[in-house]
Amino acid sequence: MSEQLHGIKKYVEERKKQLAESITQLSKKPLLYIIRVGNDPASVRYTNNKMKDAEEVGIECVLMELPEDISEGALLETMGALNRAEKVDGYIVQLPLPKHISEEKIKLAIDPNKDVDGFHPLSKTVPATPLGIYNFLLLEGTQFGGDPLKQWYRGLNAVVIGRSTIVGRPMAKLLLDLDMNVTILHSKTEEADKKLYIKNADVIVVATGHRGTLTKDYEFKSSALVFDVGINFDENGKLCGDCDKDLPVDYQSPVPGGVGLLTRLSVLENVVKLTKEHLHEN
Ligand code: NDP
Repeated sequence: MSEQLHGIKKYVEERKKQLAESITQLSKKPLLYIIRVGNDPASVRYTNNKMKDAEEVGIECVLMELPEDISEGALLETMGALNRAEKVDGYIVQLPLPKHISEEKIKLAIDPNKDVDGFHPLSKTVPATPLGIYNFLLLEGTQFGGDPLKQWYRGLNAVVIGRSTIVGRPMAKLLLDLDMNVTILHSKTEEADKKLYIKNADVIVVATGHRGTLTKDYEFKSSALVFDVGINFDENGKLCGDCDKDLPVDYQSPVPGGVGLLTRLSVLENVVKLTKEHLHEN
């Protein structure tokens, strides 16, 4: 299987080129706003990356830097203005937010038609991380033959570790859409059950935010595909995922340079999707 799976980097580069081309066909450039509250270093890095990505494919992007001590009400007002602004196609509120602001309230205040991150329950988009993995499976799946290619995944066993609303749960739903048999594991899962599910899994998505969630000590199918969503730092301050490196499986997404790139790509795809709907140019 692995020799048929392109590297994520190459795949993302190709998809970005296609996206840039599709943007030139639109009657206007998409306009994306990013709201960042405070100067958390990780948030600064993520928002800078998003600006750079947007520019690269021809999306106009405006960063709104708001002070750390902004009140929840003032943030909601700013979002209201973006919801009403005809020219804005979509926007992102970079998480995490300071403790005095309710993330749940903010997620519900985004106009579902402008919700790039897919946070609102009625959003027109799917959260970027699961969408990125799904599209990668679907599009790289053409390499495996099978037409329609969804058939390739039919009846295979998928395991998602983590059940958050922005990664685990939407991921499970998308894998179910591929007709896979899907199991979600979480922090209350018994170790013996985890071993059993992992041993039988064909596709595993790990999103716990805990190093060592999957180690080489588990038994795997040698044909398994593993997607490591986690972002952690090791004792030397080096970025690492939730899984040991080099698991004995057929394909494992690297950290860094794996799911993060797929996520960044899907953010752009979501902006273009919302813009097309806004312009009625589907
Ligand atoms: P959350 O903290 O919201 O959710 C973590 C989930 O993992 C929870 O459902 C929790 O279970 C479960 N969990 C925690 N520890 C274990 C464990 N030891 N075994 C099994 N399940 C466990 O995190 P997110 O879903 O938002 O993100 C997960 C990770 O992915 C983080 O490291 C985050 O930084 C990263 N991330 C990376 C992205 C990328 O682009 N690469 C994008 C988004 C996130 P329970 O519900 O029982 O508490």
